[in-house]
Amino acid sequence: MEYEIVIGLEVHVQLNTLSKMFCGCSTKFGAEPNTQTCPVCLGLPGVLPVMNEEAIRLTVKTGLAFGCQVSNFCKFDRKNYYYPDLPKNYQISQYDKPLNAGGSVPIRIKGEKKVIKLTRIHLEEDAGKLVHNVCGGSGVDLNRTGLPLMEIVSEPDIQSPDEAYAYLTSLKQGLKYLGVSDCNMEEGSLRCDANISIRPKGVLQLGTKTEIKNLNSFANVKKSLEYEARRQEKALGDGGRIVQETRLWDAVNDKTVSMRSKEEAHDYRYFPEPDLVPVVLDDEYFRKVAGEIPEMPDVRYERFIAEYKLSEYDAGVMTSDRDLADFFEETSKQGVDPKKVANWIMGDFLKEINTAKVGICDVKVKSSDLASLIKLIDKGTISGKIAKDVFAEMFISGKQPEAVIREKGLIQISDEKAIEGVIEGVLKSNSKVVDDYRSGKKSAAGFIVGLVMKASKGKANPKLVNELLKKKLDEL
Ligand SMILES: [Zn+2]
Repeated sequence: MEYEIVIGLEVHVQLNTLSKMFCGCSTKFGAEPNTQTCPVCLGLPGVLPVMNEEAIRLTVKTGLAFGCQVSNFCKFDRKNYYYPDLPKNYQISQYDKPLNAGGSVPIRIKGEKKVIKLTRIHLEEDAGKLVHNVCGGSGVDLNRTGLPLMEIVSEPDIQSPDEAYAYLTSLKQGLKYLGVSDCNMEEGSLRCDANISIRPKGVLQLGTKTEIKNLNSFANVKKSLEYEARRQEKALGDGGRIVQETRLWDAVNDKTVSMRSKEEAHDYRYFPEPDLVPVVLDDEYFRKVAGEIPEMPDVRYERFIAEYKLSEYDAGVMTSDRDLADFFEETSKQGVDPKKVANWIMGDFLKEINTAKVGICDVKVKSSDLASLIKLIDKGTISGKIAKDVFAEMFISGKQPEAVIREKGLIQISDEKAIEGVIEGVLKSNSKVVDDYRSGKKSAAGFIVGLVMKASKGKANPKLVNELLKKKLDEL
């Protein structure tokens, strides 16, 4: 029997706010346990939550950017459950009136565009964190309790682990363009749970799903879904059935393990949060927030292909990050070939950034300096090879290319007389190679070019060297 895979993802994203969702505590990551808490987020009796307006604005911005129907009216609800990291015994979330409904996230798989529909994006508060000590015993850190989270729920629209990976990549890119979250998975600002079921091909009814938790990287999301699809297929193939349950991804042994049977919504006894008023937003507010949305990565990708004639691959790399895309555009607008700009960015620029482990904003090379460097190669002032050394120096010191070239005496030699002099010297001291050439070994010419370039410390204009050498050898 052939099966098809049905996947839905739930992504929790911590919003970029300075304070928590319902109190004034800091959201800064990495503080000593329980130092960023107050009676409100500790859930002490008699305290009252106060809504964080910035969290509402960022969620509206996200909803508008992903094409959701953003509600004029939303409210908060209590989701009741007990867990040691949840001191109130309930989480403030949104149940039947979420801020955003519908919407979609564009993905590209092997050059094909597809949209993954969203069910909703709602706002809620985070729970705390249990810390298990190596030497025994556990503690609870409530610094994270009450952090504002968006829960982004997709429709069961994703048909393979590869699509799940592409969805997460596209979603994260969009969220970072919007500046609503830093999406740092290692610090827990982006977390993902995956629902997966399989059904015989052609059957419309969904199979029984399992939920996978504990996924700390996009690569693990993909691996766990591949594993779980195989496990379910084998179970059904052997005449067994799938139990609706929550499973944990065991990254050490590369498999999912059963954790607990899956809760239903009615297990949580949702009811409206009596301490918060509903949120009523008007069209004027939506217009204002919509005005803050930048060009989204997918739109920019298509524009880069049309406007700068980039290949799909190059456009994908250039738009992968908003700052990188800005840098590419600023450089390309200064009268240089955009394809050359993209090559420099994908080559030396990203290589230096990765080695130095700095953000694009912190790079000292200005777009005008990269444009100047490319123009200097085009004009023949320096060779492409020398330009690489110049760029490395520009990256460290932030100096302009002209200054680096002047200081290091790197100007390309395009004086025919000077190059001829170097060629003659090389031919004189390498008579064996010249003999090889004359006896018909034409590849010897390439070797001699290398020797001339080396003798000129890489400064001879390679095009001229080739021309003049050919003339010289033919004369011999
Ligand atoms: Zn607090």
